[in-house]
Amino acid sequence: MTPPAPKAHRARSSRAGDGSRNYRVAVIPGDGVGKEVTPVALEVLRAVAASGGFRFVSEEFPWGSDYHARHGEMMPADALDTLSSVDAILLGAVGSPELADHVPVWGLVLPIRQRFDQYVNLRPMRLLAGAATPLAGRSAEDVDMVCVRENSEGEYCGIGRRVDRGEDTETAEETSVFSRRGIERVARFAFELAASRPRRKLASATKSNALRHSMVLWDEVVAEVAAEYSQVEVTRYHVDALAARMVNHPETLDTIVASNLFGDILTDLGAAITGSLGLAPSGNLNPERQHPSMFEPIHGSAPDIAGRGIANPIGTIWAGAMMLEHLGETAAHDRIVAAIESVVAAGRVRTPDLGGDATTKELAAAIGEAL
Ligand code: ATP
Repeated sequence: MTPPAPKAHRARSSRAGDGSRNYRVAVIPGDGVGKEVTPVALEVLRAVAASGGFRFVSEEFPWGSDYHARHGEMMPADALDTLSSVDAILLGAVGSPELADHVPVWGLVLPIRQRFDQYVNLRPMRLLAGAATPLAGRSAEDVDMVCVRENSEGEYCGIGRRVDRGEDTETAEETSVFSRRGIERVARFAFELAASRPRRKLASATKSNALRHSMVLWDEVVAEVAAEYSQVEVTRYHVDALAARMVNHPETLDTIVASNLFGDILTDLGAAITGSLGLAPSGNLNPERQHPSMFEPIHGSAPDIAGRGIANPIGTIWAGAMMLEHLGETAAHDRIVAAIESVVAAGRVRTPDLGGDATTKELAAAIGEAL
């Protein structure tokens, strides 16, 4: 899934001179169901490591909304320094009904993404055989997409202002920032990924008919990078048309490259198409491996089901598999994904979101057995 990194940066502190494959992973279970899905995902990762000839040492950090209740911040001031020395980060979910939505995002998730220049948000959107899609008449062969979402600038750069609060004249401005460098590096990653997949197709999400500055630059830079990848068939879609295409003709789509906001929306649509929010994984990548990358399920803390032990752990287990692939353990990734596929296809052990009555632990155990 992840295109190979430049050799010099492959696996940061692992594969030392003695060839040992030891990885240090920071685990942030976070809030709600995040605390339920991360421990079982770690068990699966440990099982695959034990039989795959590598080791990883995980260190858990109790950051998130509970930490905020005690300390007034989502994580301590030196959290980013602490994380800077690990090989990768596994995040459960952060969020709480007691906190405004922006607090976990701006207090934990975005600082990590920004400090470690995790400029690619990689999200597979694949319908697994045996999972029910809301799309009529579609099966696993029709839905196998992956979105490369720009993760460091664009619409979510945080620049803006609000004036005349409470007045009739109240106004808010939100500025999008698109840089040539930012677009070029995410486009290059997307082309590399598209070139490595069998269909070699790339869809670029734009809106240059209405956004006459940022999206026109986006289109120009994507076209320039495209010139270096003649083996990839690239198509430009306005984002609204692309959303409709994901529903009506998903079989025509493979790799998608999108800005921060467009990618955010398209990937939630992708998760809905693939059956359950609980299945979908994601990686926040620093492709050059100069800093740790962070892997997480795309779902939130799901307060409506938290504490009941019924959350689907697959998104987190799959995110863990992506983490291993990023660290260079491709065989381990493939084994975990194959185990997930076989358990979902068999359909005997399913959490309630998949139409069954199994618990988080039972589904994770079934995946562990399938390994
Ligand atoms: P947050 O504010 O943390 O984002 P949320 O409830 O707004 O929480 P999600 O946590 O993503 O957003 O949940 C959306 C819906 O999907 C909820 O009904 C939730 O129960 C369901 N859901 C999310 N994650 C899972 C999971 N792992 N297994 C089963 N259902 C899930």
